[in-house]
Amino acid sequence: MKKNIILALFFIISFDVFSQESESPNIILMIGDGMGLTQITSGMYSNNNKVALEDFQYIGLSKTHSYDNLVTDSAAAGTAMSSGKKTQNYVLGLDHMGNPLKSILSICQDKGYSTALIATSNILHATPAAFFANIDYRYNYESIADQMTKSGINYFVGGGEQYFNSRKDKRNIINEMTENGYEFVYNISDYEKNKSNYIGFFTAKGEPYYSYKGVNYSYREDEPVEDFKGRESYLARSTEATLKKLKELSKPFFIMIEGSQIDWGGHDNDQEYMVSQFLEFNETIKVVLEFAKKDKNTVVVVTADHETGGAAIVRGDLSSSTIKNRFATPNHTASMVPVFSFGPNAHLFKGIYENTEIFNKLLSIVEKWKEFLF
Ligand code: MG
Ligand code: ZN
Repeated sequence: MKKNIILALFFIISFDVFSQESESPNIILMIGDGMGLTQITSGMYSNNNKVALEDFQYIGLSKTHSYDNLVTDSAAAGTAMSSGKKTQNYVLGLDHMGNPLKSILSICQDKGYSTALIATSNILHATPAAFFANIDYRYNYESIADQMTKSGINYFVGGGEQYFNSRKDKRNIINEMTENGYEFVYNISDYEKNKSNYIGFFTAKGEPYYSYKGVNYSYREDEPVEDFKGRESYLARSTEATLKKLKELSKPFFIMIEGSQIDWGGHDNDQEYMVSQFLEFNETIKVVLEFAKKDKNTVVVVTADHETGGAAIVRGDLSSSTIKNRFATPNHTASMVPVFSFGPNAHLFKGIYENTEIFNKLLSIVEKWKEFLF
């Protein structure tokens, strides 16, 4: 009799723990690299005056300066958002003294979360790498690839295959990771079909191509130019596939999705390139919002690491959805960038704050979500 009561109690307690665990919120962090207000506004006016961000609940502004420079780079800004500390430009996952930092992705893993990273750059580029690497120089891609092997990330999508299998040290990290349970795919259909819990989807050997001037370019650089036309941009579709996979793992998840090349259009002072990259990101935001609205336990935060190009809209025409940008610099600028939030505890992201607060706010959601419910 006593035994049965203890057993029953055990089941009640363990069920309670389980049911609470299952309510931890999913976190979707979306970073438009170089996406200041002008990039968003340019995309909006080029898109019949509509932008997916209009559906968000709260808006904030983030101060982007790095530890050693008013104008940040993506490494210092990525580290601030992923790990909560201002550091020097070019530094990933280390504070300004060089001490390693634990990223929000890694903290989520400790709490039983599944994780994923998606980028339209190579997957070891500063923004995605800020979530798993600790290194003093962002361009040391082969070392960052080595750190990726220890990251335990379930799904990653982006370029950079060459840093895994054509290395100076002759290691084949793809083979090593395969031995450790990863599967690798090289096109979106294989990615969608693959049922593994650990998948790397390489979209390019180096940096992926992009959608540009109404043409969807191949995301395999080695494919012939004639085959480029009519392809799908991969960000929205791979995001949809990844959300489905994460959901099927039946655990809370953290995912960072980056529109990497908005920044590259800004560096090139190329309005069409910049806007095309924003619009691909915008389509991805729609996919994410649709998921979050249905799921009801997903926090979505969309922001930027910095503005690029000092872009301004100097004229345009609403009826034909045309705009004309001018640029002040081929580099980044120090303007604050907007933060859009949606979902449980989204109100935490309103106001004006340092970019390190993005980490702190996400951390408080992950750690204190139970308190926030009451
Ligand atoms: Mg980036
Ligand atoms: Zn840049």
